[in-house]
Amino acid sequence: MKEYYSPADFDGAPKYDAHIHYHTFDGLFVRKAAKAGLHLLTVNTNFDILPIDVQFEISRSLHLRHPQTFNFLGAFDATNFASETFADDSVRQIKKCRAAGARGIKIWKNAGMVLKNEAGQYLMADDPLFDPIYAFLEKEKIPLLAHLGEPRNCWLPLERMTTHSDRQYYSKNPQFHMYLHPETPSCEQQIAARDRILERYPGLIFVGAHLGSMEWSLEELANRFDRFPNFYVDLSGRITHIFEQTFRNRNGVIDFFQTYRDRVMYGLDYFVSPNGSRNWMRPVCKCFPRVYMNWLFGHLYGEIEKHWLFFATDQVIKTGKVLNTPLSPRYIKGIRLPKDTVDRIFYENVRRVYLNSNLNG
Ligand SMILES: [Zn+2]
Repeated sequence: MKEYYSPADFDGAPKYDAHIHYHTFDGLFVRKAAKAGLHLLTVNTNFDILPIDVQFEISRSLHLRHPQTFNFLGAFDATNFASETFADDSVRQIKKCRAAGARGIKIWKNAGMVLKNEAGQYLMADDPLFDPIYAFLEKEKIPLLAHLGEPRNCWLPLERMTTHSDRQYYSKNPQFHMYLHPETPSCEQQIAARDRILERYPGLIFVGAHLGSMEWSLEELANRFDRFPNFYVDLSGRITHIFEQTFRNRNGVIDFFQTYRDRVMYGLDYFVSPNGSRNWMRPVCKCFPRVYMNWLFGHLYGEIEKHWLFFATDQVIKTGKVLNTPLSPRYIKGIRLPKDTVDRIFYENVRRVYLNSNLNG
């Protein structure tokens, strides 16, 4: 007999947010999360929002104060790829992160979408320049979290995008809408570069952020899980795409999560900062940081509860407008996966993939 959760079980259920960006030394949010039984994995990222050295110091400091409930992934600086000492510098940076307790390393979409060599070609994530880094991570069994590419909608015209949120985002940010920039590498090229890394480094523990940028097709994802035994994904920032596929093929979605329950981990992809800005050096909120942080925690915890109810129960939850159609339903019925599956997605897989690696030593 399979066991199932009821909606009232949420507070007591184990929960790990495997993809958050924690951009403040203030531990208030971590303490509130710990009290609520929510563990956090903050992801240092090679973006220009906050220098990776500052992200690292925040992570190290909070991990020291909250070693059980707050963990982090380090990052290396891919923007230095043209330096002759790039590989050595990156490996040194990874060792520094590891010594401070990092549970893995992140590579970001600037590889493939932003960085260009002298000849004006995009530096793809499978460029040989990265080989010493991947080889080191594979040898040391250090997980790699990879945000490569973007949602496929990014390469489609606005009217063909599947979700309302993507359509809104790309209509407001045409600079990131790759359909308008055909000179850049295609969606397929991004995925192909990623797949070549997986082929070349079969022992590398590889987590594809944001459903591995294959959010549009669980069949495509299943195909990669079958081909690459060390490939995992997080759900961060792409739950809407799960809702979209559930509207189309509810049983297929249920089968997918049952079959691949060891490969998927929950994450939200929110920024925690004291003033509402992704970069705490550029405040956008005039309210007191503590007031804001209290509000933010309540808001994010509510989001996590909504997502948990979707996976764990058959309760109807409010989604807002999901589909890129005028009559998009605003509610969805949960897919009620067995308790064991829910716990793997919301907690166990994060522990197994990131925390039980040999970084524990
Ligand atoms: Zn992120």
